[in-house]
Amino acid sequence: MKKNQSPKAPLTLATRAIHGNKLYAYKGPVSTPIYQTSTYRFETSEDAIRYAKGDPTVYVYTRYHNPTVHDVEEKLALMEGGESAALFSSGMAAITTAILAVTKPGDQIISTPALYGGTYRWFRDELPKSGITVNYVHPDHLDQIETLASPKTTIVYFETPTNPTLDLVDIEELVKRTRRAERKIGRKILVMIDNTFASILNQDPFAYGVDVIVESATKYLGGHSDIMAGAVIGTTDFLKQVRGLAKYHGGCADPFAAFLMSRSFKTFELRVNRQNDNAFALARALEKNKKVKRVLYPGLPSHPKHQVARKQMSGFGGMITIEVKPSKGRSPVEAAARVCDNLKIAVNAMSLGGVETLVSIPVYSSHVFMSDSELKQHGVTAGMIRISVGVEGIEDLIGDFEQALSLA
Ligand code: PLP
Repeated sequence: MKKNQSPKAPLTLATRAIHGNKLYAYKGPVSTPIYQTSTYRFETSEDAIRYAKGDPTVYVYTRYHNPTVHDVEEKLALMEGGESAALFSSGMAAITTAILAVTKPGDQIISTPALYGGTYRWFRDELPKSGITVNYVHPDHLDQIETLASPKTTIVYFETPTNPTLDLVDIEELVKRTRRAERKIGRKILVMIDNTFASILNQDPFAYGVDVIVESATKYLGGHSDIMAGAVIGTTDFLKQVRGLAKYHGGCADPFAAFLMSRSFKTFELRVNRQNDNAFALARALEKNKKVKRVLYPGLPSHPKHQVARKQMSGFGGMITIEVKPSKGRSPVEAAARVCDNLKIAVNAMSLGGVETLVSIPVYSSHVFMSDSELKQHGVTAGMIRISVGVEGIEDLIGDFEQALSLA
C-alpha cells in the first residue's frame, strides 16, 4: 500500500490540513476569522481600478472570492497535492461547474456507469439539453475507452469506490487507456475523478496521473453532518476556467460554511483514520452474521477487487454496503427497512462521511428515480443497506447492528 504522503508536499497530510501554508511566525488569530460579508470597501477608487485591471488580490464581491473561502481553498490544494482548488456551495455545484467549464455542445464524456445518483441523473436528464452526450464503459472493460473516444471527447469521468456498491475502478488502468485514446484522437482528454468516497486520506488520484479531483466536501472533508460544500482541485489553468464559470453559475461557498470546513480539516486525519478502523472491524463482524447475505467492503479479502484496493488505496474507507437476508415472508427491501428502523445508535439518514454512523437504503435514497435496468446496470439491489461508519465505540456499533439484524 502507498504511504499517504505526496512527494509534491513533504509535510504529512495532518500537518497540511491543520496549518495550511502558514508555517511562519505571524501575529493574529489561530483560526481564520469568518469574513461574513457580501462586499468589500475600497479605500479609494484606485482599488476598483486595480481590480478592473485584473489584480486578483483586490476583494470586491463574495461570489467572486472571500478571504475565509480562500484560506480553505489554499489548504485544500495543499492537502490534495494540486496546484489550485475552488470551494463550492455543494458537491453538485462543484461537479457541474467543473464539467461545464470545459465542455460545449457536441462534446462527449466517457464515464463509468456506477455513479452517485445525482451525477448520473444530471448526465441523463440535463447534459443532453446542452448537446453533451455521455457514453458509458464498464470498469472491467476500460479498453473500450479507446474504442469510444472521438475528437469530441473532452472528459473521462469516474468514481471509485462507487456509490453504493463499493465496486472499484482501476485508476492506473483508466489513466493508461485514456492517454492511449488521446494519442488516437490527437487531443487532450481530462481525467476527472469524484474522490468523495475514499477521500484524499485513502486515495491519492494525482499520484496516478488523474487531472482533476471533484468531491462532495459535505462528506469526509466536512465530517460533522453540518455543512454543504464541494471542491474542485486541479491545475491553475483549469481552475481559472472553473472560477470563470463559477462567477456566472454562482455556486460559491458561504463564508460560514468555509469557516466550519477549516475547523473540520483540523481533525480530518483523526476522524477518517478512526472511520477506516471502525469500518474494517464492523465489516468483519457483519461478514460473520447469519442475517447478512453479502458484505461489500474493499478491505475484505472476499471483495472481488480487493487486490485493486490494496494497490491504489492507503486505507479502505468508512463505507460498507450489506445485503440483508430477509426472514420468511418478508421482501428484501422490507427486511432492509426493518434493520434501519431498529438501529438504536446508527442513524437512519442519507449522506455519509460524518462522525455519526448513518444508514440508508439506496433504492430509496441515492438511487431513487431509476428504472430496474438502470439499477441493474449500477449493481444496486432492493435489499441493500449502505452504512457510513462513524467514530463511535466499535463495540457499541457491532452490538447495535447485531440486535437490529436479528429482526430483519
Ligand atoms: N458525489 C458523491 C459520491 C456523493 O455521494 C454526493 C452526495 O451524496 C455528491 C457527489 C453530491 O454532493 P452534495 O450532496 O454535496 O452536492
